[in-house]
Amino acid sequence: MYYKDELVDEVRSRNDIVDVISGYVSLKKKGSNHWGCCPFHNEKTPSFAVSQNRQMYHCFGCGESGNVFTFLMKYENYSFPEAIRVLADRAGIALPEIEYSEEQKKKNNYKKRLLDLNKEAATFFYMQLRNNPHGKAGLDYLRKRQLTDETMNRFGLGFAEKNGGELIAYLRSKGYEDKEIKDAGLATFSEQRGLSCLFWNRVMYPIFDLNQRVIGFGGRVMGDGEPKYLNSPETAVFDKRRNLYGFQYARSSRSKYLILCEGYMDVISMHQAGFGQAVASLGTAFTPEQAHLIHRYYQQVYLAYDSDGAGVKAALRAIEILRGEGMTAKVIDMRPHKDPDEFMKALGAEAFQARIDQAENSFFYEIRMLERNYDQQDPEEKTKFYREIAKKLCQFEEEVERENYLQAIAEKYFISMDALRKLVMSFAAVQGDVQPVQRPKSGIQSKDAASESTKKAQQLLITWLADSPGLYAKVRKYIVPDDFTEEVYRIVAERLFEGLERGSFQAADVISTFEDEEEQHMAAELFYGKLPPMDTRQEREKTFHDILYAVKKNSCDRYAKLQESNDMEAVKKLFEGRKALLELAKTHISLE
Ligand SMILES: [Zn+2]
Repeated sequence: MYYKDELVDEVRSRNDIVDVISGYVSLKKKGSNHWGCCPFHNEKTPSFAVSQNRQMYHCFGCGESGNVFTFLMKYENYSFPEAIRVLADRAGIALPEIEYSEEQKKKNNYKKRLLDLNKEAATFFYMQLRNNPHGKAGLDYLRKRQLTDETMNRFGLGFAEKNGGELIAYLRSKGYEDKEIKDAGLATFSEQRGLSCLFWNRVMYPIFDLNQRVIGFGGRVMGDGEPKYLNSPETAVFDKRRNLYGFQYARSSRSKYLILCEGYMDVISMHQAGFGQAVASLGTAFTPEQAHLIHRYYQQVYLAYDSDGAGVKAALRAIEILRGEGMTAKVIDMRPHKDPDEFMKALGAEAFQARIDQAENSFFYEIRMLERNYDQQDPEEKTKFYREIAKKLCQFEEEVERENYLQAIAEKYFISMDALRKLVMSFAAVQGDVQPVQRPKSGIQSKDAASESTKKAQQLLITWLADSPGLYAKVRKYIVPDDFTEEVYRIVAERLFEGLERGSFQAADVISTFEDEEEQHMAAELFYGKLPPMDTRQEREKTFHDILYAVKKNSCDRYAKLQESNDMEAVKKLFEGRKALLELAKTHISLE
């Protein structure tokens, strides 16, 4: 973190969260919380709670939670340094200059330089479209695609003229060196010809990051040149796997779902038609990193991919990635039209909304596409098809979910439910167990990621202890922060245990120990675990004991695995862990 923890804590504690959030959301006090309508998802009845005691907010609708910093970061799209500056200002606290290493400074400066250069280039293209006689071809093209001037401005569209040399001259006149122009991906260099522009005779689509900075460009050629679409190469500031076209607007659309399209023009015409939640990937296939990014803002994605063969293949791949990220997907059928842009022009926004409302569950879509590969008149082919269905059903980890899909599919394809269930079980047996869905690796997952249920137990334990600090004395004999297997959880547990040991703990401060927005979100969630309903003290005691036991047991299992590779530290920890586990099993913990 750039600032000392104490300073961050001070800025946080001098900005009361209820005061700050009241500036954005109208809040009403009810019980121990202040309630309002969630600014991060669409709702009519308030489920967004701000707690003065905890100095945190939590939405019971969409699960968003955090402290005063994360609120501003999310609501205003601020980076952490920006949020802390604004809040320090608000509380009249002077901040020291941030200290970077020399190397870091150099790297940051160069990145900033490339971003500035990109902005200049975008301005140049923008002017070319509007003020240059050559730009008329581009303007005619965009008008023919029925874009309004407002839309063109909103997306910063531009034009790269026929010979392309002028951009280089312009950038040089602004003080940029040839190396920088090349490093920004705007030109290539050869010994014979020197610097030559990458983009010419194209309508230009600047690509923005979340903070509205130009990180790259896409260009659509005028006439029949090849390639039809050309994108900037990856550069120090342009990472195609981690950005999405249109996401600078879509991240705050307040819609319940995101719409994923294939082309830039699709995104633009969707936004013009009022669908501000549309985005597209950047000339490459959809990536797990992009799914992860979307997941920070949305739980559900609607696919509006082309209806041709390539589009179907891309949609199937995207569904798999989204499922791996733990999100749900639906597929919008645009037939007989090819893509959203075409559809919008032919039938308009209302008809598109109707298609959204009828969008197909992604699993049914997958099965329907699978069906086309088998001749349903041939019994042998049909059997193969059923086997594939059964294999796919094995992907569902949760039995209830699997059973629901099994029923629905059996009905739809007139298969006997029992027969299909048997088939599923036989595959499950072959695979050892039901095959869990592969989750893509993101930087924040620990080496030995705990299963969902143990993670849940760890979360509930943190929530419970934060709510009832008195219990800590009864727990510390059995549980240590190392028992928390996720990296983020362990750090939170360390801070929590330290605080409880001292007798003062503020959850809101722990969140800002993390730099990454995703990690902050994970940390905040830990304080909002949802306990099952418990009516009697006995029930509460049993649940509490179960949670402790699950956490400790999982920790022992992990050390047992590590021990196999002769890790001496693990041997010792396993020994201590098993002792504590045994004792815990015999102990009744009273919640008096
Ligand atoms: Zn919400």
